[in-house]
Amino acid sequence: MKTGSVWRSIFVAGAICAAPVFPVLPAIAAGQPPDIVFVNGKVVTMDDATPAATALAVRGDTILTVGSDAEIRALAGPPTRVIDLGGKALLPGFVEAHTHLLNDAEMAGMSWEEAQELGLQSGVTTMADMYVDPDILAAMQQFERDGKLRLRTSLYLVYTTNCGVVLGDWYAAHPPTRTPGEMLRIGGVKMFADGGSCGDPAFSFQYPDSESYGDLFLSESELTKAVAAADQRGYQVAIHAYGDRAVETAQNAIAAVLDGGPNVNRHRMEHNVLVRPELVARYGQIGIVPVIFGYFPTCWEDSDQIWEHYVGAERLSWVRDNRSLLDANPGLTFAWHADFPWVGPVSAIQNLYEFVTRKQLDEDGVTVCEPPDWVMPTAVTVAEALRMMTMGSAYALFRETEVGSLSPGKYADLVVLSADPLEVDSSEIKDIDVLMTMVGGSEEYCAPGETSLCLDGSVNLTLGKLVTASSSLAASPPEQALDGNLDTSWQSGEDPVQWIEVDLGRPSVVTNIKLVTDQYPHGDTRHAIWGKGAGASDEYQLLHEFTRHTTSGQVLSFTPPEPWRAIRFVKVETTSSPSWVAWKEIEIRGRPAPKARRPAARVAPG
Ligand SMILES: [Zn+2]
Repeated sequence: MKTGSVWRSIFVAGAICAAPVFPVLPAIAAGQPPDIVFVNGKVVTMDDATPAATALAVRGDTILTVGSDAEIRALAGPPTRVIDLGGKALLPGFVEAHTHLLNDAEMAGMSWEEAQELGLQSGVTTMADMYVDPDILAAMQQFERDGKLRLRTSLYLVYTTNCGVVLGDWYAAHPPTRTPGEMLRIGGVKMFADGGSCGDPAFSFQYPDSESYGDLFLSESELTKAVAAADQRGYQVAIHAYGDRAVETAQNAIAAVLDGGPNVNRHRMEHNVLVRPELVARYGQIGIVPVIFGYFPTCWEDSDQIWEHYVGAERLSWVRDNRSLLDANPGLTFAWHADFPWVGPVSAIQNLYEFVTRKQLDEDGVTVCEPPDWVMPTAVTVAEALRMMTMGSAYALFRETEVGSLSPGKYADLVVLSADPLEVDSSEIKDIDVLMTMVGGSEEYCAPGETSLCLDGSVNLTLGKLVTASSSLAASPPEQALDGNLDTSWQSGEDPVQWIEVDLGRPSVVTNIKLVTDQYPHGDTRHAIWGKGAGASDEYQLLHEFTRHTTSGQVLSFTPPEPWRAIRFVKVETTSSPSWVAWKEIEIRGRPAPKARRPAARVAPG
């Protein structure tokens, strides 16, 4: 029963005394069965309260609970999808704390849509895009408004270019947000202390065969001033620091701003590639959030000599020494980054493998490049790496209450892996496949052939997509028909003919359409489903028509004998109904097109 319809019936029938109006019981309420349960798996929760389980329940976009098969099966009701994991592993979606997946997608030969698909294929469900200037910010915000954003994304606005040119405080017009549930948020401000992607990392010693100490872009006082200004405005700052002179400068700047107090805005330091021994323990002393690489470039032709050449044999132990950083800073939260496409591969599994073995999988995806002996002591354990790649990075993005562990109440952002990385031999981690990736309860990636894990390989194309309607009551906008929540509706507030139109974001293959009615009173209805391609000259074609007697809460589902292809816009037009036109939910399932291709891994000098 929808309020609008009740008012209408009262006015039309001329009723004088209106009965009190109560909303229907919310579909998502205590006691309602889960939408999906996973059973018979190895559930690696990354939550100390329940570190291991075999089953997990999802309702709507969140994790309901984790437990044993018997406990979770007992929650299932008739509408619950039961997914038998067959012993496979279920982990939180990986959180990439520093990437250029979108802003530098072009450099990797991809569109943003393709880059996102690659991220999802790689098991990444949350990320931070680290080089956002005013143009990219506007484009990202439009991308989200168009309903195209599929990974939770935090944006870091650049205070300097990667060559150290100060862009100033333009960022101040775009305040940071930390509201749980945001797909797109302003995460903080990015500053480059030294070279790396432009110019050279700043060392405390001379480069070979030159007078240079590398490029320190900002003096300690300049950096301190910039960090202080951002801190006062409530921003988190992420400082790029590659060489030990930049590491020291950045540590000093953050220490000066915090002045012995807690790091409330969680100021971070990125890369930390060359850390002088006396600087190693200062991260914890100051309270800085270090963001470190799993990647170690052992496939470079001369990887054994290149470090010795640049930093000298006596300083090899300063290079990417994750082990010493963790050991010297007990209790400090570390975050992980791959820095794609500049440094490491997108694949979370490959990064995990490199964290633990220090070996690198070459571009052919088969050849393993062995590390030199001096690199081996820098390895961390699988458990340590997984923590950084989930909860650690979630903390660095202020999202640890939303994602990063399989905990009740968090978003159902998760991955199904072919094996549990904690159980296989470390040499086999590289062979683990991502079989399914879910973001907010929606399957966003399904490996080919995984029909038992996925709903016929299809995903919900509608969740959160751009939607418009012929008319809407203020309290019941069309978005409420696409939110995966049967508790809320789009309500036109008008008699037929009325329509609601969804932009799927890109041409898609549609395999099923499901509509949940919101109607008062019951009676004969006629709903036409129209589809249109992405081209400017494309016109709507009638795909299907539902003509029947319907009541409220009824599910109208149609699976075409052959999938509808190249559909970008879907319009549901109600031409006949005794009720105001409204829908509790519209779900269009299928596959977005085109499929992303996997670009060759790239390496850049560290
Ligand atoms: Zn970067």
